[in-house]
Amino acid sequence: MTPTTLVTGGAGFLGSHLCDRLIADGYEVLCLDNFYTGAKDNIRHLLDHKRFELIRHDVCMPLYVEVDRIFNLACPASPIHYQNDPIATTKTSVVGAINMLGLAKRRHARILQASTSEVYGDPQVHPQPEGYWGNVNPIGPRACYDEGKRCAETLFFDYHQQAGVDIRVARIFNTYGPRMHPNDGRVVSNFIVQALKGEPITLYGDGSQSRAFCYVDDLIEGLIKMMDQDAEIGPINLGNPSEFTIRELAETVLRLTDSRSGLIMHPLPQDDPAQRQPDISKAKSALAWEPKVSLEDGLKETIAYFRKVLNS
Ligand code: NAD
Ligand code: UDP
Ligand code: UDP
Repeated sequence: MTPTTLVTGGAGFLGSHLCDRLIADGYEVLCLDNFYTGAKDNIRHLLDHKRFELIRHDVCMPLYVEVDRIFNLACPASPIHYQNDPIATTKTSVVGAINMLGLAKRRHARILQASTSEVYGDPQVHPQPEGYWGNVNPIGPRACYDEGKRCAETLFFDYHQQAGVDIRVARIFNTYGPRMHPNDGRVVSNFIVQALKGEPITLYGDGSQSRAFCYVDDLIEGLIKMMDQDAEIGPINLGNPSEFTIRELAETVLRLTDSRSGLIMHPLPQDDPAQRQPDISKAKSALAWEPKVSLEDGLKETIAYFRKVLNS
């Protein structure tokens, strides 16, 4: 029998690319989503595939299905979306993790958690290795996401130690590419949409804060490698270590779109991390993985996608 893989959050940005990859690799795929931020359009091309099945379900509710592997991606990921209903965000991370871990325990299924660089908060160690414990404000506007994901990691390791669940934990750093939500407020989608529409590019603060951007294809390859190996349960950082300031990103997007948009400054959001860059030594040695797609090449693909979306 072909193993069945459950992808929670499968109609989202990363989840839909993961479903594509798993279908291409020959798996039966059960895609679960409550469409909070995901869209049927992201997976419409898979709906008629004989190895693909979609269920509308909230991970906060128990789920009894027969699956062999689980990728747990369900959770709003952009600040606008996760701060819209912070209680639901924490519940999705924490109650969702409990339910999916319970399912993995009953099925003896391997389960991978899509954790995040946000567990490091506004980091005081740079770049961030997995051994760094982070600097998170537990009652700030980002806490529902950061602390929810931290608690989910705790649950994953406790289910592993106490109940023998076969876990994998990946800490994903900023990832971009086609199928990002055009209005989710993330910096790459905002800048591209603004540049294509000829609207001003919104720099929060003076744009000197930094991020390291990973193209979606590289990230999906990392998640698959993490799931498929037996030696390392994580946590493992997955991201692109090439670091850029937000101002540099704005200038690159303007150049690649031939846009005449200007830059305007907005206040820096509370608790916005000043810098972020993954230390990926562990992913390199344990998974033989590192990103291959440069920021320029990845942005070109993403710009082409948003041009199509805006013209449709
Ligand atoms: P996304 O918002 O596009 O996808 C999340 C998906 O989960 C959506 O389809 C949404 O409808 C679904 N969802 C939300 N709450 C749910 C619930 N209670 N029950 C069922 N489905 C639910 O975001 P994404 O960028 O694809 O992120 C996917 C995962 O990767 C998230 O867990 C996120 O925290 C993690 N992650 C993403 C990034 C990134 O840069 N994209 C970085 C770090 C971690
Ligand atoms: N659960 C689920 N599907 C399963 C098995 C469990 O959704 O196939 C949920 C169920 O809601 C349970 C939770 O996972 O409360 C945690 O499971 P666990 O076995 O750890 O706890 P218990 O059943 O003892 O509460
Ligand atoms: N940002 C910005 N303009 C925007 C959107 C975001 O300058 O229109 C900044 C934001 O303040 C942050 C960085 O870009 O410093 C990355 O923001 P994003 O929301 O994409 O991700 P995260 O903060 O979760 O890394």
